[in-house]
Amino acid sequence: MKNSEKQTAENKTKKTNKDLVIVPAPDAATELRQLFIDSLKDIYWAENALVTALPKMAANAAAAGLKSTIEEHLAVTENQIERLNQVFETLGEKAEGKKCEAMAGLLKEGDSILLETNPGAVRDAGIIAASQKIEHYEIASYGTLCAFAKTLGENDAAKLLTQTLAEEKEADCLLNDIALNLVNIVAAE
Ligand code: ZN
Ligand code: FE
Ligand code: FE
Ligand code: FE
Repeated sequence: MKNSEKQTAENKTKKTNKDLVIVPAPDAATELRQLFIDSLKDIYWAENALVTALPKMAANAAAAGLKSTIEEHLAVTENQIERLNQVFETLGEKAEGKKCEAMAGLLKEGDSILLETNPGAVRDAGIIAASQKIEHYEIASYGTLCAFAKTLGENDAAKLLTQTLAEEKEADCLLNDIALNLVNIVAAE
């Protein structure tokens, strides 16, 4: 096949750029501030979903250290929701959630890990994996939110969001430590 023929064949199956570009909804954000508020609503929904989900994860953990770490992070999460209420307040916006499809998916995946594992070290490993995916999502979300807040000159909001970002990173570190311990326990068995 000649080069030119090859290109014509490719063009038949390839979508043009115009097909790929999403047409925005009529109420789509035109300003960064609007995207910032929408992203806050997303994480607000996610944190509230976590308050419901974390007790189940803790109840299914076998290692005492993992159980207590998740329970402590539940208390931290409740405080993070309080902090988000303050962020909405400083912005003069109503605190409300907007379904976070990513967190809904991560929690669904966490549920299937529980179904697919027997209680003990293996289920614990699965709970840690699911929890770290959740923490990483939160770290990415709060990192972006901090950057948006700073760009918009919302310094009070930025301060509050930075505190939460640090807590999410801390939670991830704790889970890492537990994972390393768990590996040693499993290896010794
Ligand atoms: Zn989210
Ligand atoms: Fe959180
Ligand atoms: Fe989301
Ligand atoms: Fe968290």
